[in-house]
Amino acid sequence: MSYQDIIKKLETAALHPAKTVTEQIRKTGKDAFGCFPIYTPEEIIYAAGLLPVGMWGGKTELKLADKYLQSFCCSIMRSNIEYGLKGTYNMLKGIILPTFCDTLKCICENWKAAVPHIPIVPIVYPQNRSIDAGFVYMTEELQRVKGEMEKITGRTLSDDDLEEAWELYEEYRRTMREFTDTAAEYPQIIGAKRRHLLIKAGYFMDKREYTQDIREIIAGLKDEEKKPFAGNRVVVTGLLAEPAELLDIFEENQLAFAADDLAQESRQFRTPGGTEGSVWQRMAGRICDQRGDTFLYEEEKSRGQMLIDMVKEKEADAVVIFMMKFCDPEEFDYPIYKKELEAAGIPMLYLEIDQQMDSFEQIRTRVQSFAEMLA
Ligand code: SF4
Repeated sequence: MSYQDIIKKLETAALHPAKTVTEQIRKTGKDAFGCFPIYTPEEIIYAAGLLPVGMWGGKTELKLADKYLQSFCCSIMRSNIEYGLKGTYNMLKGIILPTFCDTLKCICENWKAAVPHIPIVPIVYPQNRSIDAGFVYMTEELQRVKGEMEKITGRTLSDDDLEEAWELYEEYRRTMREFTDTAAEYPQIIGAKRRHLLIKAGYFMDKREYTQDIREIIAGLKDEEKKPFAGNRVVVTGLLAEPAELLDIFEENQLAFAADDLAQESRQFRTPGGTEGSVWQRMAGRICDQRGDTFLYEEEKSRGQMLIDMVKEKEADAVVIFMMKFCDPEEFDYPIYKKELEAAGIPMLYLEIDQQMDSFEQIRTRVQSFAEMLA
């Protein structure tokens, strides 16, 4: 298969998650296990012989979810509950759910009543990650999750199982870092929407097959001639950059993504795992080492400086903020890094997004004006 065909395969996989997951279940013979945003220890699920599947909401008519979630909850979680109630997630053997925000904390209990046939494993991340107690807690919490997975699957997980899954996921994360760097050099081939879909496909496929596909795309890209790009390059930040149609507007206006700080994208793989200690300690170390992340508490918030450094390093022209409506943690961070980006003289575009939005005209006008301002 040529690398262009692999690109098409992954784009289709990202656009049709249910079909992709069903095919992957058939192909791998594994049962699927759901992963609520934002971070879940997929390695444990993989080591348990299951297929980890990302649950990042989606566009759907919200009818049933209102029974459990108020209209001021973020659209991702309302969609997830809606899908759960409609039976879209019936193929899942269970779900892991982290409790980063008030909405996720409520869902932890709501899910048990709304979708009782799909068992839930909650995971709680430590606030004080930089002290020894936080690290020890994280290590023990991962082992507790392992115990819960063993109860659900009826299978004992050995450290060797986990070691193998860890190596695969570290390879996946290395490959994704290389992919985002390489994609930035070929904006004519990997536009904003394609970049997003290629990364998103990984949530619905077995990581072994997916990582191999991405490696082939990187190799194919590197054989192409690099061409000068006439538009502008931006660093994007936020929870995610969806709906995908939104990204067509960036391509129409010659705005390419030089790098991202999105929870659905680079925040998943930008931090390499530790190399010391047991596999549990390496897994915990990766979470404790992540910086500039809204959801992983830092006393001295470093997100603003991190974005400034990304703009400089990638020679980008601006920062675009994709603000998920009603996502409190992301909203609380904004005034802090806004001030820092302004002081550094970096142009910014703030876009409020919602997965259920179907009119893009206002955003189109704002992106167009921003592109004209940068030109
Ligand atoms: S409010 Fe934000 S962090 Fe919480 S579930 Fe929604 S998108 Fe995720």
